[in-house]
Amino acid sequence: MASNQKVEGLVPLQEIDLSVYHLSARIEELPVQLHDAHEKVSRAKSNLEEIKAEIMSLKLEAGKRELTVKECDERITKLQTQANQAKKNDEYQGLLKEASAVKAERSRIEEGLLDILYQVDEKGKLDSLRKEDLEEAETVLKKEESRISSETGDLEKKLEEVTAKRDALASGVDPDVKNLYERVLQAKEDGLAIATVSKYRVIEASGKYIQWQCEGCSVEVTSQDVNLLLMGKEVITCRTCSRILLVKVEEDK
Ligand SMILES: [Zn+2]
Repeated sequence: MASNQKVEGLVPLQEIDLSVYHLSARIEELPVQLHDAHEKVSRAKSNLEEIKAEIMSLKLEAGKRELTVKECDERITKLQTQANQAKKNDEYQGLLKEASAVKAERSRIEEGLLDILYQVDEKGKLDSLRKEDLEEAETVLKKEESRISSETGDLEKKLEEVTAKRDALASGVDPDVKNLYERVLQAKEDGLAIATVSKYRVIEASGKYIQWQCEGCSVEVTSQDVNLLLMGKEVITCRTCSRILLVKVEEDK
């Protein structure tokens, strides 16, 4: 079998390998599509935690103030009892004055307390909204996960089929050429191990001439390599991109 025939035998293999390549790439890239949904869930979570922490610190402050109000009440009661038991008028007046100062302090603290309780209420509403946000984000994520999992399943099934076909096809290819082809394929990131060589007519000031070019890397192929390719006796790889070259003589570019 001449080498060009051997290389031509690789063409259907390359076609099917390209399908394998695209299917694998698609399977690999699918989970990346979950990134945004994951991001939204984690943002919603941290927003909710933030509001919960704010509510907690407000409640803590409210508790402190409630305690202080209670202490004020006790002091007021004590001062009033002392005043009622006072023997002298100035002592009585002094105790009442002190009691009224504590009352003023109490009402100032209570006012602040009401403000805090109002804030707790408002933040509580925000807390419910943020819970809803989180639930929504989690629902979207779950939906996306199930979509991607079913899509991945379909693609994997297809990949299995294509791989089986590929293996059947590969068994019919000349082993040496196949080994070379597989080595080149593994090294290529675009899934292409075979490149056609095209003929170009170039017109320059010095005259017209013909140039051969590897379509894999767009670099010129030497006429020596082209001659070997045209003779069809050897398998030639591109000196620049290492792809297995296949010459197309019939069409000019
Ligand atoms: Zn090349």
